[in-house]
Amino acid sequence: MIHFLDLQKINAQYAEQLKNAASRVIDSGWFLLGKETEIFERKLAEYVGAEPSQTIAVGNGLDALRLILRGYIELGEMQEYDEIIVPANTYIATIIAISDNRLTPVLVEPNIETYNIDIDRIEEKITEKTKAILLVHLYGQAVWSEKLEQLAQKYNLKIIEDNAQAIGATWNGIRTGNLGDAAGFSFYPAKNLGALGDSGAITTKNPELAKTIRALGNYGSERKYHNAFRGANSRMDEIQAAFLSIKLDYIDTETATLQSIAEYYCKHITNSKIILPSFDNRSHVWHVFVVRCKQRDDLQKYLENHQIQTQIHYPIPPHKQVCYANTPLAKLHLPITEQIHREVLSLPISPVMTMEQVKKIVEILNSY
Ligand SMILES: *Cc1c(COP(=O)(O)O)cnc(C)c1O
Repeated sequence: MIHFLDLQKINAQYAEQLKNAASRVIDSGWFLLGKETEIFERKLAEYVGAEPSQTIAVGNGLDALRLILRGYIELGEMQEYDEIIVPANTYIATIIAISDNRLTPVLVEPNIETYNIDIDRIEEKITEKTKAILLVHLYGQAVWSEKLEQLAQKYNLKIIEDNAQAIGATWNGIRTGNLGDAAGFSFYPAKNLGALGDSGAITTKNPELAKTIRALGNYGSERKYHNAFRGANSRMDEIQAAFLSIKLDYIDTETATLQSIAEYYCKHITNSKIILPSFDNRSHVWHVFVVRCKQRDDLQKYLENHQIQTQIHYPIPPHKQVCYANTPLAKLHLPITEQIHREVLSLPISPVMTMEQVKKIVEILNSY
């Protein structure tokens, strides 16, 4: 069986370092808001190009996005029912972060070639209530343009990045997570930079927002037992910070491997029933390798019969989810998004796959 993603094997590469780090944290007796978190925040800031004091480790990727929006609300820059423009084709977490803050998600269709938000369809959705564009660098591909910057400037909108899937990607030499006003990261175990449990982070160019978010993630308190906000409890464990500091050193090497596997797939998958992704190599870090096929379910079954595990990112679009059944989202007609959800299939891609496995997948796909 070729696994979709073998997390055991991925972490085994660094087992000795990870075990040493775990021992160090256990022996220290200090488990939250300590020097491991501080070190990781500094390393992540340096990697992304952000300010260390404006890089905040939190509990998970969903909280990262939630806390950014909550931070803007606390600063008086957003309020209940304000509108946030967001891609219709994304993981549900992006939408939940908006609706949890009683803000209104305004869904925009993706570009069928890149699967990312169609920047040309944003302006028609802007109203007096629009406060931000929450971008998602979906599947690991950066989405950005000068036109987007101009739109944000013209209408005075914040640009927030959901960078859960694209750490290491760049646009014009700038890393995702450092393009907009603020960004959320996820270090869920299966993400490109994966912890051994849940964790996430926020970067922002706004020092005031950073200060507010840092308090919000710790019960709304800057000083112990003094609560300025009714905050959340969303902190990165010291042990996860220690693991992530190790794994961050290898992210570029792992990304390069993913990029070479993706390149091989694109060059050698020649079956006309399979639509390959369109990309620019520097801007794509291949969190997942997504192809499209009219007979998607049949193709998935065929691959399964040939011992190849695949996944679907994602089978049900956010506006069709039961949790939004009683909201205006449920009435939306989004043909491109719906087509994508019917046709996409994610092939195995990971830094620990062998070339032999990659070749086998190509061969089997070409004989479908
Ligand atoms: C994984 C993911 C999240 C949420 O991250 P968690 O750490 O799982 O909470 C948010 N947005 C996108 C696009 C994701 O892929």
